[in-house]
Amino acid sequence: MSSTTDPGLKTWIKCGKDTHFPIQNLPYGVFQPKDGGSPRVGVAIGEYVLDLSDLERRGYVSASGKGAASGSDFGADSFMGVLGTGTDQVVFDRPSLNDFMASGPEVWSQTRQAVSALLTGDDPRLKEDREFQAAALYRQEEVELLLPVEVADYTDFYSSKYHAVNVGTIMRGADNALMPNYVHLPIAYHGRAGSIVVSGTPVRRPMGQTKKDEDPAPGFGASRLMDFELEVGCLIGAPSEQGSPVGVPEAPRHIFGMVLVNDWSARDIQKWEYQPLGPFNAKNFATSISPWVVPLEALLPFRCGGPKQDPEPLPYLRSTAPWAVDINLEVWLQGQEMDQPHRICSTNYKHMYWNICQQVAHHTVGGCNLRTGDLLASGTVSGPEPDSYGSMLELAWRGTKPLKLPGGGERKFLEDGDTVILTGWCQGKGYRVGFGECRGTVLPARG
Ligand code: CA
Repeated sequence: MSSTTDPGLKTWIKCGKDTHFPIQNLPYGVFQPKDGGSPRVGVAIGEYVLDLSDLERRGYVSASGKGAASGSDFGADSFMGVLGTGTDQVVFDRPSLNDFMASGPEVWSQTRQAVSALLTGDDPRLKEDREFQAAALYRQEEVELLLPVEVADYTDFYSSKYHAVNVGTIMRGADNALMPNYVHLPIAYHGRAGSIVVSGTPVRRPMGQTKKDEDPAPGFGASRLMDFELEVGCLIGAPSEQGSPVGVPEAPRHIFGMVLVNDWSARDIQKWEYQPLGPFNAKNFATSISPWVVPLEALLPFRCGGPKQDPEPLPYLRSTAPWAVDINLEVWLQGQEMDQPHRICSTNYKHMYWNICQQVAHHTVGGCNLRTGDLLASGTVSGPEPDSYGSMLELAWRGTKPLKLPGGGERKFLEDGDTVILTGWCQGKGYRVGFGECRGTVLPARG
């Protein structure tokens, strides 16, 4: 375990017991002070944001790794030579994390070590300098959180077998639920990067073409069956070369961190359009991600074994290391008629049949390259229990078992004005490495 994830670490900054952002987390985001200034990169700590552009100007962090402590869980190899980041380039006074993400795992680790040392007081320069604190620390309510990454390409996997069986049963019947390829390869489709938005952005119900089974011809109108999908996404930092597959063992060196993802879905549009090439307008109108990117290094202590894979995957997909991750995930729903959000799903990311290293290996095996800023989402995270399903389609079983809400309301799918809140955290002993939340409110269709 690297020193930055040690459960015994303490910060001199006040952190609530239930905070998602203890010293062991240190997630990256992009923020803009509400009282002015340009967007820049920060790290969340308790209720505060530490401005890394300020630290960079002082020379306390650097993409060249200068002035930072050393040590990494990723081994001694460095991407710095490959990427030519051995100079004093500015990466934190930027409106996205991309330049920092491109600098590779050695620089990520060194930066994390330096930030951790300033926040524990091992490096006393911030703890003992009130002026420095006033310049570099913001309360989270003083800033606006922006989309953290300029997303390059967006791929959405389908890696929960529970979800695949549920949706297959609903769409095609129990006998045809799981396609024969499912247990041999991580299924995915290429999504739309340009319509990815940050948590808090309202999402408009899409218009589109739909056809019920009994209708003789399709019609056009507002989607009636709007849904959410609870997912976790990997963000690619270090790119790979076209034509050079990234194997399962090398995959972690390319993954910068993870975010919560809501893959908003219009089920009626999806049902009519999805064969034979998969989803298109049912998914491309909006996808929401959380503003904080939890570094892969912060998640390493929470790796665990995943479901047994039977049959054994082909050699290029074999994974000997335990690369499932124990992330508790919840979905909360608040309708306009409700006083507070109500939890409608509680599940865990460790249920995924295919892990992130297998996803990367399969994605690149034919020669497809990874780019800095690529988002590889997991697919809907569903578990074995009915309250662990990660979409309304499954929770209300295509409307046949409406969800009961406090106050007497019920839902088959999402209604206008509904706010969906995803949250997630890894449970340590006495602390949580959390993702914060990813929220969005459904706006009426533009009719
Ligand atoms: Ca999805």
